[in-house]
Amino acid sequence: MPNVLLSLGSNTSSITLNSVGLLTFGVDELMQAGQMPLIVSSLYRSPAVGPGYQPDFYNAAALIKTSLSPLKLLKLIKQIEHAAGRRGALFWGPRPLDIDIIDYNGQVLNWRRSHGPGGVVAPGAIAGWRPLGRGKVRPLTLPHGEMQRRVFVLKPVAEIAHKWRHPLFKLDANHLMALCCSPLAIRATEKLEKFWQV
Ligand code: ATP
Ligand code: CA
Ligand code: CA
Repeated sequence: MPNVLLSLGSNTSSITLNSVGLLTFGVDELMQAGQMPLIVSSLYRSPAVGPGYQPDFYNAAALIKTSLSPLKLLKLIKQIEHAAGRRGALFWGPRPLDIDIIDYNGQVLNWRRSHGPGGVVAPGAIAGWRPLGRGKVRPLTLPHGEMQRRVFVLKPVAEIAHKWRHPLFKLDANHLMALCCSPLAIRATEKLEKFWQV
């Protein structure tokens, strides 16, 4: 069965649950739907990136085995986010629960080569590749198009998936972090000692 790395994040409460409760809810819902997580990382806290003031983000990563196709898994994820109280809102705005597919069994989808004339690498590209779409409406991109720039994704992935390598860049999570993330962002993302005690 395909191995899948997921990133879970939350920075607002719902009516009944705080961010940590919502991440737990997300993991529970995945289990209920038969997507049993093999391992869930510690919890990480980082300052929000996005428009205006936003509360801190809580993030974790999970490794699952799935029988669902990438698109069916994305559909399930959207149902779980909706059940957690997420509604169509501001892009990169506050959200009760966000679940992204970071890697689906090493599959590559919707990336393109980004060498310009004369082999010059386009701005924003890494190792000559860039994701096809940006913004709220974009095709399912595998591996996730921005994960390499995000400490709050890479730190939990490094914790639970030592052997994982980015399918295009051929680097592990710690190497990606050293290459693509600022030391400030790396310092600002802290591991909390106990997942359930915040
Ligand atoms: P980001 O993906 O940059 O973290 P976001 O999570 O806030 O942004 P969403 O509003 O949750 O963005 O999703 C926007 C679109 O991204 C969705 O329509 C979804 O289909 C698409 N998408 C593309 N690739 C992925 C992926 N690997 N995992 C989850 N959603 C993806
Ligand atoms: Ca996201
Ligand atoms: Ca998302």
